[in-house]
Amino acid sequence: MRNHSNKPLEPETLAAQALGIEDPATGAVIPPISLSTTFARREDYAPAQGGTYIRDDGPSQKHAEAILCELEKGEEALSFGSGMAACTAGFHALEAGSHVAVSSVVYYGVLSWLEYFARERGIRFTLFEPGDLDGLERILASRKTELVWLESPANPTWAITDIEACCRLARAHASLVAVDSTAATPVLTRPIELGADLVCHSATKYLNGHSDVLGGILVVADAGQPLWERIRLHRKFAGSMMGSMDAWLLCRGLRTLFLRVPKQCENALAIARHLDRHPAVERVHYPGLENDPGHEIAGRQMSGGFGGMLSVLVRGGRDEAIGMVKRAQVFKRATSLGGVESLIEHRKTSESDLTNTPQNLIRLSIGVESVNDLIRDLDRMLEGA
Ligand SMILES: *Cc1c(COP(=O)(O)O)cnc(C)c1O
Repeated sequence: MRNHSNKPLEPETLAAQALGIEDPATGAVIPPISLSTTFARREDYAPAQGGTYIRDDGPSQKHAEAILCELEKGEEALSFGSGMAACTAGFHALEAGSHVAVSSVVYYGVLSWLEYFARERGIRFTLFEPGDLDGLERILASRKTELVWLESPANPTWAITDIEACCRLARAHASLVAVDSTAATPVLTRPIELGADLVCHSATKYLNGHSDVLGGILVVADAGQPLWERIRLHRKFAGSMMGSMDAWLLCRGLRTLFLRVPKQCENALAIARHLDRHPAVERVHYPGLENDPGHEIAGRQMSGGFGGMLSVLVRGGRDEAIGMVKRAQVFKRATSLGGVESLIEHRKTSESDLTNTPQNLIRLSIGVESVNDLIRDLDRMLEGA
């Protein structure tokens, strides 16, 4: 992006203008969607623009990747057809015999993939409690560990891990660290600045923000990292590239990321404080609450808010929790997160027996609506009216 001042442009500007890339053919401020799957070669048989086939790369995908690379301050980014495709690419790229240390509270799909497929691919994994650095250190000291996988805040308790401390530990044991930063977004946390090697996002969530794209992103701190080359090959030959239409929509969604996320954080904090005092609520999980065990680290690690995700433990069990969700009117009863509309779900129903998510846990994804409407809806749900 052209910038005559000697100060680099701020992330808000880069996101709002999608790096300021214009269409060279027409001057369009919004680049057109490029749906072509193949790209012509010149008479000398060299590719006319660099790319030859959409499974390797495409203009809309490269645009989305370039934006995320800037926002996460990495060296290179790759887009995938889903968050799960991005999350698992690193595991696919590991060699048989590799060992991974995984936080026990992470997106249930990642735990499920490891449970179903890791062993037979010769990948061993050991779980550590989220944020338990002593436990992680014991694992790293006991066996060679290629990769540490964590999420912060972590689904669905929004447990916080000290990313910087974790990366320091991992580096001492020559392990790479990958952070699923879906819930934090680059607005609030930039794991690469804290020492992480890989950052992963479900772009389906906050990055796109409008619940109409399925996609994933990986950003790497060092593009010369051998695992990165294998991840690139994996994407090409497993065919897990992001679709062109999705990539274009993602670039559009990213333009308002820095407006959406702070508003979602503000709404979520007000709701968490309200629910924390509610007699029908046993406990609120939200790192923005002073009594949350992750509050202090989150305060250092997250800038500008504590995220738009929170969970509540409803007094009672599964029946009381589902009974609450049934009465939702403004909140939509749906899984997923990060959209501008607020969602409510009984999390255990979406997960599997692999997780120890309690039956009375309700997960809330807070949108950009009027917080008064959201609080009124929650009060009605909790009062059973
Ligand atoms: C949703 C989600 C994923 C998976 O992303 P998909 O786009 O649904 O495949 C991975 N990690 C986290 C934290 C998520 O919330």
